[in-house]
Amino acid sequence: MGANCCHDVKFDGMDPAYKRALIWVILINAGMFLVEMPMGFVGQSQALKADALDFLGDTFTYAISLAVIGKAASLRAKAALAKGVSLLLMGIWVLASTIYSVFYQPQPEAIIMGSIGFAALVANLLSVLFLLRFKDGDANVRSVWLCSRNDAIGNIMVMLAASGVWASGTGWPDLIVAAIMASLFLWSALSIIQQSIGELRQHRMDTD
Ligand SMILES: [Zn+2]
Repeated sequence: MGANCCHDVKFDGMDPAYKRALIWVILINAGMFLVEMPMGFVGQSQALKADALDFLGDTFTYAISLAVIGKAASLRAKAALAKGVSLLLMGIWVLASTIYSVFYQPQPEAIIMGSIGFAALVANLLSVLFLLRFKDGDANVRSVWLCSRNDAIGNIMVMLAASGVWASGTGWPDLIVAAIMASLFLWSALSIIQQSIGELRQHRMDTD
């Protein structure tokens, strides 16, 4: 789930095996974004679209981690700011289209929602397996766990929404879960933006 999600995961390792693991995790997350977002359209599910945003955010996170290994802190803050702004725009779009869906009431496909939600859960667990081999400090292990746990909660919420849609024969469970997830996601994007602006200011003061 978007809130408190993986934007604080920091690794400083130069280990080539670690870089390889990061590349795998980037591919898994980017791949799942490219599957879940279109399936959100096919299955008319806002919750899938909202959950897909998290894969995009994590793709950015790990790509930035990989790109800035050994580089200046200000570069990292600039990359984080760009990430925060793009996530904010996508979050606004998902939330706005969820509100719009309240009025035209699409009928989401429970089977698509449930199976893609399950695939997303597997993808997240797989990412954890790749990353946990590189625990080089308690803080890292903790942030990987927290982030994966939040993501798993998001995936399970999508599956719960799928069973709700199936049981009720309406799209309401999908819209409610999507609205919650998109709001948490917006909140998290705003905090990334705020934090990176703070870091950039701090950096400017340090260099002046
Ligand atoms: Zn995540």
